[in-house]
Amino acid sequence: MIGRFANIIVDISHEKVDRPFQYRIPEALIGQLDVGMAVIIPFGLGNKRIKGYVIEITDKVEYDEQKLKYVDSIVKGGISAQSDSLRLAEWIRQNYGSTMIAALKTVLPVKKKLKQVIRKNIVCKVDAQTAAAKADEFAKKHQNAKARLMQELVLQPVLLHTLVTGKLNIAAQTIRALEKAELIEVQVEGTYRSVLPKNITDLDNWKKKQLSPNQNVIVDNIISDFKNNIRMTYLVHGVTGSGKTEVYMELIEKMIAEGRQAIMLIPEIALTYQTLVRFYQRFGDRVSVINSRLSAGERSDQYERAARGEIDIMIGPRSALFTPFKRLGLVIIDEEHESSYKSESMPKYHAREVAEELCRIKNASLVLGSATPSVESYYKAKKGEMRLFTLKERLAGGQLPKVYVEDLRNELKSGNRSILSRRLYDLIRDRLQKKEQTILFINRRGYAGFVSCRACGHVMKCPHCDVSLSEHTNRFKNKSMLVCHYCGYTIPGVTSCPQCGSKYILGFRAGTQQIEEFLHREFPTARVLRMDADTTKGKGSYERILSQFANEEADILVGTQMIVKGHDFAKVTLVGILAADMSLHVGDYRAGERTFQLLTQAAGRAGRSALPGEVVIQTYQPEHYAVVHAANQDYEHFFAEEIAYRDLMMYPPVAHMLAVLVLSNDEKMAEIQINTLAEQAKQQFGNRKFVLIGPTEACIGKINDIYRYIFYIKHGEYQVLTAVKDALEQTVYARKWNADSVQFDFDPLNNY
Ligand code: ADP
Ligand code: ZN
Ligand code: ZN
Repeated sequence: MIGRFANIIVDISHEKVDRPFQYRIPEALIGQLDVGMAVIIPFGLGNKRIKGYVIEITDKVEYDEQKLKYVDSIVKGGISAQSDSLRLAEWIRQNYGSTMIAALKTVLPVKKKLKQVIRKNIVCKVDAQTAAAKADEFAKKHQNAKARLMQELVLQPVLLHTLVTGKLNIAAQTIRALEKAELIEVQVEGTYRSVLPKNITDLDNWKKKQLSPNQNVIVDNIISDFKNNIRMTYLVHGVTGSGKTEVYMELIEKMIAEGRQAIMLIPEIALTYQTLVRFYQRFGDRVSVINSRLSAGERSDQYERAARGEIDIMIGPRSALFTPFKRLGLVIIDEEHESSYKSESMPKYHAREVAEELCRIKNASLVLGSATPSVESYYKAKKGEMRLFTLKERLAGGQLPKVYVEDLRNELKSGNRSILSRRLYDLIRDRLQKKEQTILFINRRGYAGFVSCRACGHVMKCPHCDVSLSEHTNRFKNKSMLVCHYCGYTIPGVTSCPQCGSKYILGFRAGTQQIEEFLHREFPTARVLRMDADTTKGKGSYERILSQFANEEADILVGTQMIVKGHDFAKVTLVGILAADMSLHVGDYRAGERTFQLLTQAAGRAGRSALPGEVVIQTYQPEHYAVVHAANQDYEHFFAEEIAYRDLMMYPPVAHMLAVLVLSNDEKMAEIQINTLAEQAKQQFGNRKFVLIGPTEACIGKINDIYRYIFYIKHGEYQVLTAVKDALEQTVYARKWNADSVQFDFDPLNNY
């Protein structure tokens, strides 16, 4: 782009400098500089050299030309953003609230190009026979090094240079001599670090399938829309094993035939080796993958390959969305309901929403898939904003399991106070006898801490927000308090149930370790594996536990939600969900949705092969709609009840909710800031209708000595909330508060 001035965003995360600064382009760089490039510029009074990103090149001078400073240089090896990425960054900044530089860094996941790996090979230039003859000849002359190398080349005509100089112990001089004699050649190749599975043997298993009529309907509709230049979002609702992945692959193949590229997002935990092999089988080295196990160099290589058009498909978690494809035609988001698609740091974007915008910019189609769609997506599908497809049958066989819901109140009544209901206890014993496997799943999510009655199931709830209260211990008096995470409503802890008077009302706690110990006591011969945050800390330990269990080295696997995903175990015929209530009462408006998803998916682990499966859900609230409909695998009815609740309480997706969080090491300051911002939010609305909840101390009031205060605003229109956010950002700026101390979260997934 030609122009004499560059508008540049500087790389300092501070609200005060989060606007473009204009610079003059020196003679030597005119025509060289481009939008998206990283540059070095002098900044501030001391003209400190810092990095910035060019967001515009223009001939229009905005200040006194004589006073403008010159761009210093272009950052060597800096990744430059395409203009599409800049548009996306601007959209992210506007819709989620953050500094421009934070948004830019989000869309540029790799900050720096790393050098390619250089590989040197020694290649034999003569045929094996000649090489063998030469080896003999050298041996006779006692030229042992030369003989050794030629012999090795008889076996393998290409050798790694490092192997030759290292293990074979051959001097550079010898190599040069053989090179001169034209027996060998040293070849240098720049290679990309390969990240794909090696030595795949299981070739036949993943042959392309003849699609079923239902699968074909999906593929045909989406592709014909694409060819007719219709772009929209599609939602594929299909149980695990119903053939969604097969549909994705067919769509990708057809998109490539149209000359376009595809991004497929899979939550990291579900991105198994098997899935990778399947894609690799079908698309060879036109596919690449990004995940957190890759080194910085490996990541950088994958983005570079994408930018050069050397690959057509990128698979990976959230950040794979920012793969710099020039001809993007399709984005697929598998397991679209997963909470890992939302960023936990600023900007707190949701990959599903960013994908919609990316597809608009790139004129691409968006396909979402899930066995338990998010309430958001299903709501949109019902309103006609997405097109819904349903896949009902499992294609590789396996029936849906039989599900029992065990009422723990009855267990208490009949004197059973153990963590296992009688039915689950009996079924575990039965499986141990039959040498079949059991998974016990403890539904442990965050800092549950809700208080419920063991006798009648009554849960202590906030009268204003209809979410459960959490047990907190008062910082000063060491007294138990029940607190609402949204509005701060607080009552003293209770000692008897307000519903039935029972004294068995307490905070809910149970861990995987207690269960493991219990199993050892009750079933001393059973082999038990435990999978939770503690046992999966080490590198590769997650995979190791799974493969031990798959190899039937254990009878029972006890774990948290991380065992719910991905893997199929043929011998698992019993799944026990020990405390369904744990996720029912986390104290946020998504608790019902999360519970339904977890129960449905956990139940889906049983009976994946010819052996029929059974599932036991233990709960104090067997009548809760999330439990009832998960037991029946009935999404439709679950959705109907969930959306009615969201509608009634003005929760997303029916309305929208903005969380404003203030963080400060100074408690007084945090309080002043949150009150000022809440006051200003009220003024923004004037006479218009809105709901403000709080401000209050956040659910976790202090982390690492940083105090946390929060308020929420609910309103029907997302745009109205972004306008409020803009005004609050202005206040932060005007008062010279640190921009990092105020965070925004739209339609939050968890509470703070
Ligand atoms: P999902 O992604 O919905 O879990 P998959 O695409 O992985 O489902 O399919 C589940 C199983 O069914 C896989 O073993 C797959 O190979 C097989 N499968 C999928 N589609 C077909 C088909 N049309 N014909 C035969 N087998 C199929
Ligand atoms: Zn009670
Ligand atoms: Zn409340």
